[in-house]
Amino acid sequence: MARQEDLTVEEALKLVLEGFAVLDAERVPILQALNRVLSEAVTALNSLPPFANSSMDGYALRAEDVASASRQQSVALRVVADIAAGSVSEVEIRRGTAARIMTGAPMPSGADAVVPVEATSERWRDAVRVLPEEILVYEAVRPGDYIRFPGEDVRAGSEVLPAGHVLRPQEIGVLASLGVAEIPVVRKPRVGVLATGDELVAVEEELRPGTIRNSNSYAQTAQIISLGAEPVSLGIARDDESDVRARLSAGLDAGVDLFISSAGVSVGAYDVVKAVLEAEGNVGFWRVRMRPGKPLAYGSYHGVPYLGLPGNPVSAMVSFERFARPAILKMAGRRNLARPCVEVEMQEEVHSDGRETYLRAIVTRAPEGRYTASSTGSQGSHIMTSLIQANALVIIPEGVKNVKVGEKLDALMIDWPGNVF
Ligand code: AMP
Ligand code: MG
Repeated sequence: MARQEDLTVEEALKLVLEGFAVLDAERVPILQALNRVLSEAVTALNSLPPFANSSMDGYALRAEDVASASRQQSVALRVVADIAAGSVSEVEIRRGTAARIMTGAPMPSGADAVVPVEATSERWRDAVRVLPEEILVYEAVRPGDYIRFPGEDVRAGSEVLPAGHVLRPQEIGVLASLGVAEIPVVRKPRVGVLATGDELVAVEEELRPGTIRNSNSYAQTAQIISLGAEPVSLGIARDDESDVRARLSAGLDAGVDLFISSAGVSVGAYDVVKAVLEAEGNVGFWRVRMRPGKPLAYGSYHGVPYLGLPGNPVSAMVSFERFARPAILKMAGRRNLARPCVEVEMQEEVHSDGRETYLRAIVTRAPEGRYTASSTGSQGSHIMTSLIQANALVIIPEGVKNVKVGEKLDALMIDWPGNVF
């Protein structure tokens, strides 16, 4: 892999994604399949509905018996059965008879339609609906009315979901109705998270002079969890090669599919990550022409892909968004790796140094439907709070230094909150 290349974000992303493939599959209990990707097609073993049943509470009858029924000229039928959901009636509906039937109950033989209870003389009496001996029908129905036929939704033997489909609550419901209790899905990517730096202390520790809390590991772990992947904490490595090595070995033992580290990849005197990767892996240190961001190490450690993000928290988060997120989604079997992108009209003048710039921004939708954006204030790569208000990263393209009010830019929606859209 070439070293010290100056790459565009697009070039770097292409190279990163080439290094990842969809992971192997596993079978998990149905609810654990939520938000995961189906690894093989699911074929229906039964039809949906599995049997003809009533779509209303009413009376199962022969449509021809009530062809002339109306409010003025009701038709009387003898009630021969009461069929609740979950029960099966052996009764045969002959001329002049009907069976009371509840929603979801199987149609009795001989009946070819259901008339809803509202169109009959049946009424509530003393808070119970007593089964009448005879019922008056006030409306005509046609054969097939208010019957849900077997296979209308899904036919037995048909493919219901293709491999690669993302399982949302509605897919979970369909799988449950088909009796698929164990779902074949792509394995969750396991991502090792390593912080590096002598200045870092853990979140529960007191700050001493010269130290800061390790925020990157938490932010990245949260990003990993949000993607449905599995984080593996590798702690904080000191700016010391043997410590970095020991922690990466722990990651190998834990079977990670990807290492993500922050800091230690630029040109400082103590940037040890690259020394370790050079010795025991394969590495490309790139300057990606992006802001925030710039240093990004990509390679592998003992055959496991490795993404070394910059240390500055905002750069680390944006680089994760741009490179780690799509890589993790690709391993998880997702096909759509990109955030939704909308065109926004800038509400303020913004500037860049000519690198592709990711402005932390608030995108709102104006009443006419167009999207507008303004930045969330100071854009320094150490200003973590610039991400708190942001629901988008607005991209100033490479080569553009000044953007005037009203000019249009693309916004990557990192969040799509209901109160904005
Ligand atoms: P470096 O890449 O090591 O030069 O780090 C760049 C900046 O990011 C420095 O100001 C570091 O203190 C800061 N930094 C590095 N790692 C972390 C971390 N895990 N959490 C918060 N800030 C960090
Ligand atoms: Mg450092």
